[in-house]
Amino acid sequence: MNSNMHPMDKIFAPSGLFEKNFEDYEYREPQLLLAQKIWDSFMQQRNTVFVAEAPTGIGKTFALLAPALKWALPQEKRILFLTAGITLQEQLIRKDLPRLKELLGYDVSFGLLKGRGNYVCVRRALELEHEGFLSFGDSGAASIYLSEWLKKTQTGDLSELKLPSDFPIFPRVAAQVRGCLGHRCPYRDRCFIQKALKKAQNWDVIVSNYHMYFAYVMNGKGTFPVDFDVLICDEAHRMVDAARSISSVRVSWEDLVRLLRSKGAATAESFLSNREEEQGVLRDELSSVQEEGRKLFELLEVSIADGVLIPVRNEELYRCGLLVSSHIETALKMLRSIEELCNEKPYDVDDGPLALALAWIEEVRLFSHSLQWCLAVGHFPEWAYWREGDALVSEPTLCSDKVSEGILSQKAEKIIAISATMTVEGSFDFWKRETGIIPTDTYVLESPFDLEKQMKILVVDLGLKVIEKGYDERVCRVVERLCNDNGGSSLVLLSSMRLVKKVGNWLKGSQHPYTVYVQNELPRTELLERFRSDLSSVLIGSVSFREGVDVPGEGLTQVIIDRIPFPHPKDPVVQSRNELEGRKAFVTVILPQAKMFLRQALGRLIRSKSDQGRVVILDGRIIDRQDWRIRKDLPLVPIQRFTVKSNSVAHEKTV
Ligand code: SF4
Repeated sequence: MNSNMHPMDKIFAPSGLFEKNFEDYEYREPQLLLAQKIWDSFMQQRNTVFVAEAPTGIGKTFALLAPALKWALPQEKRILFLTAGITLQEQLIRKDLPRLKELLGYDVSFGLLKGRGNYVCVRRALELEHEGFLSFGDSGAASIYLSEWLKKTQTGDLSELKLPSDFPIFPRVAAQVRGCLGHRCPYRDRCFIQKALKKAQNWDVIVSNYHMYFAYVMNGKGTFPVDFDVLICDEAHRMVDAARSISSVRVSWEDLVRLLRSKGAATAESFLSNREEEQGVLRDELSSVQEEGRKLFELLEVSIADGVLIPVRNEELYRCGLLVSSHIETALKMLRSIEELCNEKPYDVDDGPLALALAWIEEVRLFSHSLQWCLAVGHFPEWAYWREGDALVSEPTLCSDKVSEGILSQKAEKIIAISATMTVEGSFDFWKRETGIIPTDTYVLESPFDLEKQMKILVVDLGLKVIEKGYDERVCRVVERLCNDNGGSSLVLLSSMRLVKKVGNWLKGSQHPYTVYVQNELPRTELLERFRSDLSSVLIGSVSFREGVDVPGEGLTQVIIDRIPFPHPKDPVVQSRNELEGRKAFVTVILPQAKMFLRQALGRLIRSKSDQGRVVILDGRIIDRQDWRIRKDLPLVPIQRFTVKSNSVAHEKTV
């Protein structure tokens, strides 16, 4: 090897290992540059936090893994590779890691530690059984099927169940963060998460997700149960949402009913079996909890609108909540003898009924605390509070301390955070502010595509404001015309479910040669699969589809976005942020976030060097609001502007 040659050249450069061994390999300079930068950060004699933005198409995964493996394996160091979604995790396990293993000739072991919600919680599943094979509109067939499967499964992976992914039994039995009893769980020897963690102790590379990671580092002992030396955070723009969701506090009527009916309640009661009178009192207290709880959640439904921020304590609800908690407290006092049993003699975790009763007591106590937390509204605006269906929810407004502590506290020697969209106007400031992470090195890569030749941007001023009469119909007409003009093959991203429904109905009700798919009419993966295979089809979805849609080629040649994707102003977390930071929140958070969302949406269009297409944004403010500087975050391609006047479209100018 030439002494000036970088160690990564041997792998990625022309005539390198990749080109020699894989026919389909295409040399990409940005991939080599990224791998070199990462290797150089590994070579520094200090702990490093390397942060990079790497656009779609550069072959980022290999550029991350090759230097990491080359550095870690000879020193017997372990890599923890985190992503946000299961698709990327499965691709790593099925394709990328086996390919690199073969190419580099390393004896590397690896495996996937899925997010908790992918595993069945044995305790919850057995509780469901205890409730008598509940019917989910199927006369209990799914419950019986689950129970049979539970006896046979080796992994506890819920995807083994042949049921639609949105079948209501899944949320009832999936493992959770809150409510997991950990070492106190009487079923911990059978727990599939514990088994998966045990297996992971033998892997050189663990692939997992942010939820799983934050669930450990932010709760309980604050350490991830498997040691690691290199932490790779892919899709790093999604860290904050994961940390926020792990920190959220939630109580619902459904939770309360489940707790009161659970096997733990009956087991706890059985400890008073020689004191019939006390058993009766306990039962009365628990039925008071149920009765007062029912009143509380009924009152919640009529006094607080769904999804609306609760900035101050509602005194009536708070009083009702205190009543529920006081009955819980009385019931728990009666059960103190169970806890005292454990103080008198060493706690025997193998005593199943005792562990179950203790675990139930802990869960009931947690419910009571969470209820008080949500009803007291004592930490607004640092925390946001709202109602969501039959539940009360509270989430932290800012997560930077939680994210930075979670990522940095594990003392990994080398940390890499990377994503296709992390910068705003080329700067990582927004990401740094939101995550609280200060990188030691940063790097921004250019897109490997010739965007100027491959894509066009059209800005259409609809001539009406969202609140004006006729706006929705105008969106429908313009979207229809654009889709017809393009012969389908379009992804339509809309800012509200109201518009998704309207535009979906409009297009489905009109004559055209392409099929129209609308969000929620099928499970997301199936919808995406159909959209991908039906080349002329049109997919209509909310902005949540700005990520995870990967359709290279003819199947996607047009992306239509109805407006600049500002977070919804009534979103409780957004409102809390406004309250916390005042007017500057727009510039420091809301606008940068909208720019990131917009870039993610635009990123759906060009997925390979041969792709061609256009992005149409139905929002004249892209150009008119020069003070927002949105163009600085758009690809450097000419933008054509059109204005809609009544139902005709006038071409104005190219800017
Ligand atoms: S430890 Fe127990 S409660 Fe926690 S996921 Fe496992 S089975 Fe469920």
